[in-house]
Amino acid sequence: MRELPNIPVTRLARRVIARLRGLGHEALLAGGCVRDLLIGRTPKDYDIATSALPDQVEAAFAHTVSVGKAFGVIRVLDDELRELAVEVATFRHDGPYLDGRHPSSVSFTNAAQDAARRDFTINALFLDPETSEVHDFVGGLADLDARLIRAVGEPRQRFEEDKLRLLRAARFAATLNFEIDDATLAALTEMAAQVRVCSAERVRDELEKMITQKGASRGLRLMLQTGLMDAVLPEISAMVGVQQPPQFHPEGDVWVHTMLAMDLIEHPCTITLALGVLLHDVGKPPTFDDSTDRIRFNGHDHVGTNMTGEILTRLKFPNEVIERVQSLVADHLRFMNAEKMKTSTLKRWLRKPHFDEDLELHRIDCLAGPGTLETWHFVRRKQAEFAAQPESLRPKLPIDGNDLKQLGLPPGPRFKELLSALEDEMLEGRVATRDQAIAFVRQAMAGPANAS
Ligand code: ATP
Ligand code: MG
Repeated sequence: MRELPNIPVTRLARRVIARLRGLGHEALLAGGCVRDLLIGRTPKDYDIATSALPDQVEAAFAHTVSVGKAFGVIRVLDDELRELAVEVATFRHDGPYLDGRHPSSVSFTNAAQDAARRDFTINALFLDPETSEVHDFVGGLADLDARLIRAVGEPRQRFEEDKLRLLRAARFAATLNFEIDDATLAALTEMAAQVRVCSAERVRDELEKMITQKGASRGLRLMLQTGLMDAVLPEISAMVGVQQPPQFHPEGDVWVHTMLAMDLIEHPCTITLALGVLLHDVGKPPTFDDSTDRIRFNGHDHVGTNMTGEILTRLKFPNEVIERVQSLVADHLRFMNAEKMKTSTLKRWLRKPHFDEDLELHRIDCLAGPGTLETWHFVRRKQAEFAAQPESLRPKLPIDGNDLKQLGLPPGPRFKELLSALEDEMLEGRVATRDQAIAFVRQAMAGPANAS
């Protein structure tokens, strides 16, 4: 066992455990944090399991939040840094699961029974931070050594109780780079379709954890192989076997390209980039067309943008995420034209919020195929060039609506058109001063309405 990291949340966890013990209760680190400590990862958060009842936990600390009192879970906040917290859960035994997701009742019990209600053996370990002793009731230590995800108890029954565990198995296998034990994998494969009973939010949270961390493509392959993908993201399953023109994609079909792309993501990464990479070619299967000289996917960016909206809405991602990912998918082919774009068009595009994610998706898309990074370098050079004179990307217009009125133009939609045309001229570097702006507007007003 390596030393516990000396970080504030660890110190809080130690203090909470010492306090509970001082009051005569049993208290141990439990679950994911123990697993992570034993394999040398820094835990994201700490969970403590205790014999103290929820009321006793609340009474023992000045600042607590009851986050799931029915399940015996109390959040204990640090006295000074209130954003720092650990979760303290009373040892519990789950009653029958009736809805495929939650126990209908719980009863408070001992550590051994608490281990038995947990999902996988590697998640069912307890650790005494004072002695570094591990309490292992389910063979979790051996499975950590063997790098195996194994259900606690009978896999079919454990998946039957809570179908989210089906997806969690794939997620842990991916993120930890573990194998799934044979019996657990067989049950998972048999029951994968039942993951559909889980709420979209829970599925979304597991998927997010899977695809934003290293090992994402492994998790996605496991999802495909077990049938979880068909249940959760059939649009991704549809990529398998969709051939691409070999001169542009010698790496293989749309699925192979997408998995190579997932492997090229640098971590930590945002959920928007991860989803953008996963979905950038989701419009290819329905637009596949080999009726001409070569395979084409005309309009796959547009079709993919709509599909992305449907998929992410179904999975209840926040609107901001949906819009950003849709925009990544919609624009991923624009790079092909970047070097031929008018300067004003290029500048307007580079002003797009979060453009760096578009650029990163382009880099990944190229490297997952035979594409060169020429355009990527071109855009980076242009970005640097424009950044040196920020005014050139966002010029301040030297005239406004009042000036247009004075020039004799009646207010109306033509105002916006003219000012936008003027901005183009400035972005192109053809107009800089107020006099030049007025001259441009006079000339445009003299011409036909759509001449701008
Ligand atoms: P992560 O690093 O993603 O937080 P974790 O193992 O801590 O992984 P959590 O979802 O935070 O996962 O849950 C904490 C612990 O609670 C798990 O390690 C496991 O022991 C138990 N647990 C969580 N979800 C389930 C479930 N659906 N069924 C059974 N036990 C679960
Ligand atoms: Mg956790």
